[in-house]
Amino acid sequence: MDFSLSNEQRAWQMTARKFAEDEIKPITLKLDEAPDAHGTFDWDVIEKGSKFGFRTMAVAKEYGGEGTDYVTQALVMAELARGDSSISKTFSQNWKWSHLIQQACNQEQKDRFLRPFVADHRYLLGKGITEPTAGSDNRMPPKDAPKAGLKLRAERKGDEWILNGEKCFIANAPVGKLFFIDARTDPNAPLRQGTTMFLVPYDTPGFRIGKVFNKSGWRFYRNGEMIFEDARVPHANVVGNVNTSDMKTAQAGDRTGGDLFGDLELAANALGVCDDACEQAMKHAKSFKQGGQLLIEQQHVALKLNKMNMLTEALRSYVMRIAWEHDHKVHSANAGLAMNFSTDVIQEVTEINLDIQGIGPGLRHAEKLVRDSFIWSHLAGDSVQRLKVAQRLARMAQPGH
Ligand SMILES: Cc1cc2nc3c(=O)[nH]c(=O)nc-3n(C[C@H](O)[C@H](O)[C@H](O)COP(=O)(O)OP(=O)(O)OC[C@H]3O[C@@H](n4cnc5c(N)ncnc54)[C@H](O)[C@@H]3O)c2cc1C
Repeated sequence: MDFSLSNEQRAWQMTARKFAEDEIKPITLKLDEAPDAHGTFDWDVIEKGSKFGFRTMAVAKEYGGEGTDYVTQALVMAELARGDSSISKTFSQNWKWSHLIQQACNQEQKDRFLRPFVADHRYLLGKGITEPTAGSDNRMPPKDAPKAGLKLRAERKGDEWILNGEKCFIANAPVGKLFFIDARTDPNAPLRQGTTMFLVPYDTPGFRIGKVFNKSGWRFYRNGEMIFEDARVPHANVVGNVNTSDMKTAQAGDRTGGDLFGDLELAANALGVCDDACEQAMKHAKSFKQGGQLLIEQQHVALKLNKMNMLTEALRSYVMRIAWEHDHKVHSANAGLAMNFSTDVIQEVTEINLDIQGIGPGLRHAEKLVRDSFIWSHLAGDSVQRLKVAQRLARMAQPGH
């Protein structure tokens, strides 16, 4: 494996680094302090970043996007996350779902949705799977209850599907213009065989956004409820075949299939946060004296700095490796393992940073990073993912695999 960067990859990395310094870092703490979920978002930074290509970098050049490879996406993700991991994630959520449009949608759907997405700096994408009573069950349906999982119902009437039900925690819901929605089209079949994926524009009749969640971490990233009350979606918006949602998602980069883009994206995002935490901790340790001695000269602090950097560099190697594997279509369990590793590393590294900062001037920032890091345990079902990766490793260990 060769991890040396091309000139183009280096240029993307440097542009993202400068954007994080100039445009993200100055606003991140202020937005984080907003008292309610409506004050934490800023269209200005999204529009500016979009003009650099950070919203559309996973879209192929033939559709007007940037057509970057996975290594570039990982590099940009890590750099933007050095500024704020919830702003980087707001950009990369669009990479994830534009990968899905390109891989799972038919030509007519690509033309109808990708081109307006690329043209509009305020066009964000999302995907609704989770419901008030179905989170982990969608990722790993229980063996003894195969019909468990999402309940949002879609029934066909002529050329339309009528959707009724509710989604929750959906990223970009309050600000998005287009959503993939998983709905039950055969309530009598197990989840995997009875679910269909639909493309649902934000102005679909009968569809509205409910509550916007006021989270403790990743406050910029907007999560909301989606309410469907006889929402009318044309049959032309069905993605692939009816009752095949899970297969399409797995092929295209959601996590249900294994070593996929969502895992790389989260691991690279965690790397940026760890870089930021290491930098902040070192800066403080080199400038703050305690008991007449700089922190860096105190052995117990030096050991903590060593650990932060050791874990961060191990994560960097893992992120680069899985990005390389994605670009070279190498299939392994590594992306899932790297995502789980990144959860452990980001939480440990940000906690050590908080410890080193003490009551110093970087305390507020360090405390935010710790709150942000706990999102990794929840948003992608980290513990269920660990079980799924273990199952995958067991399959791979079978003779003849
Ligand atoms: C910031 C954020 C963004 C999100 N964005 C989206 C989005 O865009 N679209 C979307 O559809 N959803 C989204 N989600 C929802 C997310 O996918 C769910 O939170 C996740 O699937 C877990 O579901 P849950 O919250 O219902 O937890 P539960 O399923 O209730 O699980 C609670 C805990 O029990 C553990 N657990 C559950 N079942 C098992 C089991 N069988 N074995 C072992 N442990 C188990 C879980 O790992 C978890 O720790 C988002 C969540 C967050 C926090």
